[in-house]
Amino acid sequence: MKNKKGITILGSTGSIGVSTLDVLSRHKDSYEIIALTANSNAEKMLQQCLQYQPLYAVMVDEQAAEKLSNALKNKTSETIVLSGAKSLENVSQLEQVDFVMAAIVGAAGLLPNLAAAKAGKRILLANKESLVMSGKLFMDAIHNNGATLLPIDSEHNAIFQCMPISGQQGVQQILLTASGGPFRTRDINSLHEITPEQAIAHPNWEMGKKISVDSATMMNKGLEVIEACWLFDIASDRIQVVIHPQSTIHSMVSYNDGSVLAQLGNPDMRTPIAYGLGWPERINSGVKPLDLFKTARLDFEKADFNRFPCLRLAFDAHQAGGNATIALNAANEIAVGAFLNKQLRFTDIPTVIEHALEKTTSGTPETIDEILIQDNESRKQAKLWMLEH
Ligand code: NAD
Ligand code: MG
Repeated sequence: MKNKKGITILGSTGSIGVSTLDVLSRHKDSYEIIALTANSNAEKMLQQCLQYQPLYAVMVDEQAAEKLSNALKNKTSETIVLSGAKSLENVSQLEQVDFVMAAIVGAAGLLPNLAAAKAGKRILLANKESLVMSGKLFMDAIHNNGATLLPIDSEHNAIFQCMPISGQQGVQQILLTASGGPFRTRDINSLHEITPEQAIAHPNWEMGKKISVDSATMMNKGLEVIEACWLFDIASDRIQVVIHPQSTIHSMVSYNDGSVLAQLGNPDMRTPIAYGLGWPERINSGVKPLDLFKTARLDFEKADFNRFPCLRLAFDAHQAGGNATIALNAANEIAVGAFLNKQLRFTDIPTVIEHALEKTTSGTPETIDEILIQDNESRKQAKLWMLEH
């Protein structure tokens, strides 16, 4: 019997990918890196291949793959370089792969994550967008193929830790914490002036650009509400968003006997990553112990839907059904991309999403093709709004 777990990291060059490699480097005897994947950053992938020597490296971008392949030849590396989006699915399904870290950003993660589910892998899910898009279809793929889904998003990982071992016995509510991002207390009349640089400067977490903007609009929390509904099979009216600016408590579960269980820790994604890798055991993550005396205080506030309209849009979309949550995610990806390129104002992000939602018919897609068609249609609607305004 092999004693090392084989792992594929989808999105290894990103913030979660790099943190995953950091945790793995502390447990070289327990894990073998089978594949690393990225979109186009060949330099960073080259460095990761030389350091971690995966069997496969996937670059979705063909030119980047060629560049990586040539650079690796010069270093007499044995890593096999693959290219194209289909290769992401292939390296998620390999027999020697036990775990798949799903850390691609956005809708691009959907097909490889589904492939991992169909192959019965343990999926460490960071890519919340794929679950928001595919909901029941993804959960069914997990259950029907004997796959295991462990949440890596810090809030969902915390909830998972605070939930009963099986079922939801006695659970009253999920208390989903949010830092409130960089603009929680900024003058609401000046939100339209926000620049990408200001939006990606998160007070507590270091993350990729897209999720940082999502945190600033609180769409991230909206996506997380939907993510929690699917992961924990719970209605959205039993999820309370709680602003907690220190990000020390990562979320809570309240019970019908008056108990509230919380998971606390420093805001460092290596903790949930290590939990997902080691589960049901605990392994060292490299994260410093929490210093409660330095933390000193824990504050809580209600979320303000006027300041953060994206949060309301997410709750409404979840109520409306699958087409709406796909539209919400697709339009958000387009709007955030345009904002980062300085083509859209910060305060127009919810306007674009609302427009795409208005153009969406009710209902829930039942196949992956229907999901992709709705995704494509909503991206078009978002782009049309931007052309016309
Ligand atoms: P990031 O932007 O730092 O990294 C994204 C990774 O995805 C990169 O490796 C990139 O090469 C790859 N990628 C991008 N577009 C791709 C495409 N079209 N095809 C294939 N690969 C592509 O993002 P991140 O901050 O690491 O976030 C990754 C995911 O994890 C997101 O879904 C995010 O919401 C979630 N997440 C992140 C954090 C965090 O702390 N960073 C916390 C919770 C959840
Ligand atoms: Mg989170």
